[in-house]
Amino acid sequence: MDFELSKEHKDIINAAREFAVGEFTDRAQELDRDETFDPELWKKACELGFVGMYIPEEYGGSGMGLLECSLVMEEFWAVDAGIGAAVVAPIFGADIINLYGTEQQKKKYLSPLAEGRAIMGAAITEPDAGSDVTAATTTAVKDGEDYIINGSKMFITNGSIADFIIVFCQTDPENPDRHRRHSWIVVETDTEGFEANKLHGKLGIRACDTAELSFSNVRVPVGNLVGKEGAGFKELMVFFDMSRIVVAAMGVGIARAALEESIKHTKKRRQFGMPLATFQITQFKLAEMATKIKAARNLYYEAAWKADNGMLDPELVAMAKWYAGKTAVQCADEALQMHGGYGFLDEYKVQRLYRDAKIVEIYEGTTEIEKLIIARGLLK
Ligand SMILES: Cc1cc2nc3c(=O)[nH]c(=O)nc-3n(C[C@H](O)[C@H](O)[C@H](O)COP(=O)(O)OP(=O)(O)OC[C@H]3O[C@@H](n4cnc5c(N)ncnc54)[C@H](O)[C@@H]3O)c2cc1C
Repeated sequence: MDFELSKEHKDIINAAREFAVGEFTDRAQELDRDETFDPELWKKACELGFVGMYIPEEYGGSGMGLLECSLVMEEFWAVDAGIGAAVVAPIFGADIINLYGTEQQKKKYLSPLAEGRAIMGAAITEPDAGSDVTAATTTAVKDGEDYIINGSKMFITNGSIADFIIVFCQTDPENPDRHRRHSWIVVETDTEGFEANKLHGKLGIRACDTAELSFSNVRVPVGNLVGKEGAGFKELMVFFDMSRIVVAAMGVGIARAALEESIKHTKKRRQFGMPLATFQITQFKLAEMATKIKAARNLYYEAAWKADNGMLDPELVAMAKWYAGKTAVQCADEALQMHGGYGFLDEYKVQRLYRDAKIVEIYEGTTEIEKLIIARGLLK
């Protein structure tokens, strides 16, 4: 067993940190306040290879593993979650094309994503189908050489700025097995009948676009089907098992930032004639945060390492995602508490951390769903 990251990994971490500190720090408060996505930051991240890391080299990416992508996300989220999400989410869903798409689809869709020429989204959630994805009722009905898509999707990252969206549709609604009813279909967003409305007023990751979508008789060629018809649910579970590892790294990034801010503040802030950091209760808080962060990081490292070595482990991934979310929320809460009233102000980073942390417990499988996956593994 070897707990040391390689020199290449350390170089990736340093490059990601340098980029994020240099590019995100001064923009974070403004982009959060204005709920704005900055395409220039995304382009720069593409040029430096951070966006296409996981896309294979033959399609313009650098063909790295989930561990490398996760290391980058921890660094990005430690500087700013909203911008960190916004610059990398333009490829959210690319794994589905990479794993299940045809050669032609990979060439058509993956290269523009890696090179910063296109933005995509992955639309699963619906107004009445969240945790239970099998309840998704957006339909794709075959009509000659086309599918006709009708329905609506909710909370779709990049929904209002994407060039194309991979949509989780019902292609076989009558199938008695609800796990065989769905398929993935790519919809280009300039297709007639497609509409997106940006959602405003999010609690956190406000620099990252989120939208609701509607599909009204959207006609796409049958060639836009990605993967096997009826295998969408199974393919989604594999996709989530990969993407949740990266989300766990996001949570660790937030938690780490909360610890860093707390150390800085409690060393400087004096009450009762001495720095807050000299009080044992403060020290206990810092010690607990550091320990939880280390445990959460080790979980995502192991989950990523296993996935990269062909041993994708859904229960371990669920543990990593759940524990990272909990750690992010708890550390952000403690950090704000240690900042007292100052933490309540938006000019202090801890306020943003406190708001951003919560998303790790919600998207790509809530805390409760992750625990159900862990328990299912224990009881099977
Ligand atoms: C900012 C943001 C970005 C997002 N991006 C995307 C995206 O790009 N694409 C996409 O498809 N979706 C996206 N989502 C949607 C996200 O994945 C869902 O919000 C999430 O899966 C939960 O679904 P829901 O909101 O419908 O909650 P619900 O499923 O209604 O859950 C509500 C509560 O009930 C609990 N619950 C549900 N079922 C059970 C159960 N069986 N046992 C115990 N508790 C249960 C949940 O854990 C939760 O606490 C995004 C959401 C947000 C907020």
